[in-house]
Amino acid sequence: MFTDRYPFDPALQHLPQIQEFTQLKRKAEAIAGQLLRNSVTHQDGQLIHQCAETLGISTHNPMTPVIKTWYCKHRACPICQWRKQMKRLAQMHTVLDLLKMQPSNHRWLFLTLTVQNCPVTELSPVLDCMNQAFSRMLRRKELQHLAGHLRNTEITEDTLHPGYVHPHFHCLLLVKPSMFAGKHYVKESRWAELWQEALGISYLPRVHVRGVARDGLSEDQQVINHVAYNTKVASSYEQEDVFVELVQQTKRKRLFSAGGLLRELMSSEERELFDDEPEPEHRVLSQWSPTHSTYLQPPL
Ligand SMILES: [Zn+2]
Repeated sequence: MFTDRYPFDPALQHLPQIQEFTQLKRKAEAIAGQLLRNSVTHQDGQLIHQCAETLGISTHNPMTPVIKTWYCKHRACPICQWRKQMKRLAQMHTVLDLLKMQPSNHRWLFLTLTVQNCPVTELSPVLDCMNQAFSRMLRRKELQHLAGHLRNTEITEDTLHPGYVHPHFHCLLLVKPSMFAGKHYVKESRWAELWQEALGISYLPRVHVRGVARDGLSEDQQVINHVAYNTKVASSYEQEDVFVELVQQTKRKRLFSAGGLLRELMSSEERELFDDEPEPEHRVLSQWSPTHSTYLQPPL
C-alpha cells in the first residue's frame, strides 16, 4: 500500500503529535512483536499491533488539532499507557482545584510499600495478597486520619535474579491535618509494621514514606510529578519470557485503586468526561507503515 509514489509529507512529520505517536507506536510494535512470538499471548500481540494504525485529525477546532484514532486499551500497550497518563494528569489537575474548595487544609504523603521479590510465575497470587493487605491496613484505627488514597502498582524486573520480579505499590495519601498532631503521626518504622501485619508475613518489608519536600517545587507540582511518574510508559523488560509471563499473570488484576475523598473527586471528574460532546468529524491524516516504521500520508 505504501510505495515511493506516496513519499513522506515533511509538514506532516513535523507535527509534534505525530512525532510523539511515532515514538510510541515503535515501542508498541516491539512489545506486540514479543507477544506475537508466543502462542499464549498471540492475541494480546495482535491487539496491540492494531493500536493507533490510522491517525485522524479532528476538524472541530482548527486552532487545537486533536488526534483521533482507535486504541487497543491493552495494559501492556505503550500508546494506551501514555493515553492513560494524559487522562490521569488532567483528572489530577481538576482534583487539586476541587480540593482547594474543601474547608479542611489537607496534606499529602508519598508512601511506597514493597514485598520481597517473587518468581514471575507466582505474581498473580502475590498481587492478590498485596491488594487484600492494603485494604486491611487502611481499616486500622491508627490510619483514621487518612482522607483518601491513590494506589499504583509497579512491577519491575529483577535483573540480578532471572525469572524474578519486584512488585510494589506507590501510594499518594491525602491526610487530614490532625495526622500531624503529635501522637497521631505514623512514623516510617510504624508503617513497615502495619504493612507487615496486614500481609501476615514474618519479615519486616521495606517501606518508604515522605511528606512534601521543600525543594522549591509547589506542593501541587510535587503531586502532579508523583502521578506522572507512576503512570509513565513502562520500560521494556530485558527478559522476553518474563515479560510474556507477566502479561498473563496481571490479566484482570486490579493495579490501580482510589479511595476516600480522592475517589469521590476523581469520579466527579470522570462524569464530566462522559458528558463530553459527541466525537466531531475528523479526517484521516496519517497511516502506520510497518515497512518504514513511521506514519505516512495515506494514498489519495
Ligand atoms: Zn493500545
